[in-house]
Amino acid sequence: MYRLTGPGVKPPAYTAARRPPVDNLDGRARKRRRATSDPNCHPHAWSRRVQVPEPAPPPTLVHDPEFWFEDGSVVLVSLNTGFRVYKRLLVEHSPFFRDLFQMPQPANAPTVEGTPCVVVSDPPEQVRHLLRVLFPTNGHLAFSKREEPYSMDAVAAIVRLSHKYQIDHLLAQGLALLMEQYTDDFEAWKTPGRALPIAARDVDAITAINIAHLTNTPSLLPLAFLAVSRAGTNMLRGCVRDGRGIERLAFPDIERVLNGRVAWCESSSKAIARVFAPDNASAGCPERRRCMRILATKASDLDDVLERMYRSDVVYTWTDEFDEEDEDTGHKLCDSCRDMIDARELEERKWLWDELPAMFNLTVEGWSVR
Ligand SMILES: [Zn+2]
Repeated sequence: MYRLTGPGVKPPAYTAARRPPVDNLDGRARKRRRATSDPNCHPHAWSRRVQVPEPAPPPTLVHDPEFWFEDGSVVLVSLNTGFRVYKRLLVEHSPFFRDLFQMPQPANAPTVEGTPCVVVSDPPEQVRHLLRVLFPTNGHLAFSKREEPYSMDAVAAIVRLSHKYQIDHLLAQGLALLMEQYTDDFEAWKTPGRALPIAARDVDAITAINIAHLTNTPSLLPLAFLAVSRAGTNMLRGCVRDGRGIERLAFPDIERVLNGRVAWCESSSKAIARVFAPDNASAGCPERRRCMRILATKASDLDDVLERMYRSDVVYTWTDEFDEEDEDTGHKLCDSCRDMIDARELEERKWLWDELPAMFNLTVEGWSVR
């Protein structure tokens, strides 16, 4: 059996309750070292350490129904689930496993049904998500074929395990999905109804925040914080990953969410007030009196717009109000004034975008749209 030591890998005696099933489960924004950069976790390190009882596969090992290849050459053991897969493919994708499998094995090393085994600390659900992209089987295709949004469980597991086991190409693909979801591109953000690659609730952005810390990907943070700030008290309850563990934010990030929510609402309210300001009609307006009257009516009726703002993302346009005819007169704004309103809204969105990292007490290099 290949023996893994250190914080990333534990002997099989642990239980799900004792061992958090996801990294950073407590949300602590610690900088995590890659597996082999940690001397306690390097596969060559074990022989230099004090000997601990040999971890062994549990006696009640269950074959994973999806990943138990009869001709597999290594069994990954996660809790009481065994995944019999191909050593050669793991070596090809992961320098971590390449180093591990180069270690000489004692003659009496434990095996699973005669096959060498590796006990991993990752819960079986996460291992399965990773194997689905490493060994695509029927119905589970790799990242490159996107027909419907991925689940946050799958993306998070793949990013975390790719990071841990140094599977760089998968890590890059997983992070790219998160970066598309929680974009740093103003043009993408303001596109109405843009297709998102991950099916995520607001509270799932907790996972994006923790992954941003883990992988040092700060560009994810502003929109992820904005999303969590809309989750209300669900932010404190956390989000369940793989039906197994609850992932929460670290205390400094909870502070960011709460303070950022206030700052966001204040700034958005000011922005909306400026968009709806009834100060003047546009320069090219052919119906100044009529348009001024409509602008004044809309400005006096801002409560609905503010209510929508409090409940939804800024991507929701505020100015479709102006596409409707005035209730009393049946008139609409002229095209020139309608363009003026759109231009005002665009400027205010740019301002909010630029202020977003500061609202959540974040520094993100190259964020500004101006
Ligand atoms: Zn006009």
